[in-house]
Amino acid sequence: MSLANKLAEERRARLAAERLLEQKQAELQAANRKLGKHALALSHEIHETRAEVQTVRDENQRVKSDLNDAYQKVEIAERRLWHSIETIQDGFAFFDADSRMIAANNAYLAVFDGLEAVKPGVSYIEILQFITEEGVVNIGALKPHEWREKMLDRWQSFAPEPEVIRLWNGHYIKLIDQRGHGGDMVSLALNITDTIRHEKELTEARRRAEAANRAKSSFLANMSHEIRTPMNGVVGMAELLMETDLTEEQRLFASTIKTSGEALLVIINDVLDYSKIEAEKLVLHAEPFDLERCIHELVTLMQVNARDKGLELLVDYDLFLPTRFVGDPGRIRQIMTNLLGNAVKFTESGHVLVRVTGVHPDAEGRASVHVTVEDTGIGIPPDKIDHIFGEFNQVDDERNRKFEGTGLGLAISQKLIRLMGGKIWVDSEPGKGSTFGFSVSLPVAEIVEADMPNLINGQFRALIVEPQATSRAILERQLEQLGVAVVSCQNAAEALVQVGAGFDLVVSDHNMVGMDGLELAEALRDAGHGMPFLLLSHNTGYAEQDPARVHVQAVLQRPVARRDLFGVLAALMPSDPVQARPMRVLAAEDNRTNRLVFSKMVRGLDIELSFAENGREAVELYRALVPDVVFMDISGLMYQTHQPEG
Ligand code: ADP
Repeated sequence: MSLANKLAEERRARLAAERLLEQKQAELQAANRKLGKHALALSHEIHETRAEVQTVRDENQRVKSDLNDAYQKVEIAERRLWHSIETIQDGFAFFDADSRMIAANNAYLAVFDGLEAVKPGVSYIEILQFITEEGVVNIGALKPHEWREKMLDRWQSFAPEPEVIRLWNGHYIKLIDQRGHGGDMVSLALNITDTIRHEKELTEARRRAEAANRAKSSFLANMSHEIRTPMNGVVGMAELLMETDLTEEQRLFASTIKTSGEALLVIINDVLDYSKIEAEKLVLHAEPFDLERCIHELVTLMQVNARDKGLELLVDYDLFLPTRFVGDPGRIRQIMTNLLGNAVKFTESGHVLVRVTGVHPDAEGRASVHVTVEDTGIGIPPDKIDHIFGEFNQVDDERNRKFEGTGLGLAISQKLIRLMGGKIWVDSEPGKGSTFGFSVSLPVAEIVEADMPNLINGQFRALIVEPQATSRAILERQLEQLGVAVVSCQNAAEALVQVGAGFDLVVSDHNMVGMDGLELAEALRDAGHGMPFLLLSHNTGYAEQDPARVHVQAVLQRPVARRDLFGVLAALMPSDPVQARPMRVLAAEDNRTNRLVFSKMVRGLDIELSFAENGREAVELYRALVPDVVFMDISGLMYQTHQPEG
């Protein structure tokens, strides 16, 4: 081989080697770069992981410290709770659903007086056992096992009622047990010894105060009664004195003695009644009576005062309500007198209306009777409404002050109504008027149908002449109830027009503007109408004296009681006259003055009067004379009369 060839070959080999070297170097560099990148990535990763680990570690630390805090708080709360529970003087314990004690405070455990066995873990049944065995509780008349059964029954009930037990040392413990979540039971044992002692002291103090009050009322009642007897003498004698020959001046003196005495008697009677009720000595005397009649009698009595003031006094007695009831008529009259008296007293103009309604007799024959007394008077301010039923309480203002009174009337009425098991109320608007009402449940003495006369059966036509709307409506209903066909007019002129239609009866008011009732009767007679004419008058005395009286068949006092109306209608038919003899009256009276007053009072009456001076004599005379009426003092006589046989 030529040198040149060899050289060429060598150059080629060198060049090849150099190229290979270059290539390997490039490869090495690339590998190096890759390695560098990888190393960088790895280092990043390591860094991140490290940070994460740190975070987790921090969190762990925080949780641990929170837990620690919480634990400490729980511990403090529990300590405080127990401290509180231990501080309270009352027993506290709780039990699990199996009735095993979980915990109890010292006050609870102290009751067991060091009994080791009573501690957390003990069962309720075991506790009951210890209590009876050790005599911790005064179990009264029960046998130990009976007491345990009773207590266990209570414990096992869903919501045990509080129970008061008495410990051996006289302490009273009130057990209050309440079921909680999952059947746990929280038990409180409250020491109520002081409360019970206070209660006993209070009850005793109250009993003594009430007894003292009753004694005082009793004294007052006796005193008032004692004062009443001589006062009756004073009034009665003054009355008799006035009937003798006197100068004007002497008459004035006597009349002042009489009115002052009467006023004093009213007050004494109020005080007497009030004290009697307070002393629980007032007894109701139930007997059959006619409520409607009783109300009408009162209204008639009040009529004089009402007329003087120009007031209309009306009665609206529910036609479907019975009139006869069993109750204490005297007391009902007293209540009505008070309400009516007040209504007239406190009303200057307008009317006073007594309305009687009721709920019909129930299966036991009792009816609920509602009576209201409505006036158009001065009214009562709202803030005084509750006040007026109190004793000696009156509305104290300018308008009221001029009226006299004791302020006892409503207090007595309220007490009487309560005694009867009823209630009393008032509605009032100052300046407009007041409505006082009461309701009582009373046995019906007789069913209303028995009262209704069966004389009119739809054929009868009556003409009513009445200017006053309320009175007209009441009268219409009263007559329609009997089956009478009614035509009403407001005055005599209208009546004269209507009367042509042919009526069987005319019922007319007396005192009418223009032509009055009696003039109307006369005009009718002059016109040839002969039907019965019934005159209703507020002042029957005045009507009776009128020469025109001859034209009317009957005069009735207003307001008209249904019974009277029925009576008059019945009287239009012929009836047998009744044989009359003087009434035999026996008066038992131990006071000589009163006997004198009484005999002077009734002189001139067609009666046979006998006196008994004491109870024994009264009984003897009662047997001998069989009087129609006996007058008797209630508590003045020492000898009680009794019902004679038969
Ligand atoms: P008295 O009438 O003796 O004062 P009451 O107990 O009967 O006692 O009445 C108490 C008070 O109630 C009266 O003084 C009066 O102020 C008020 N009062 C009672 N009834 C009425 C009435 N119908 N209208 C206005 N006020 C009345």
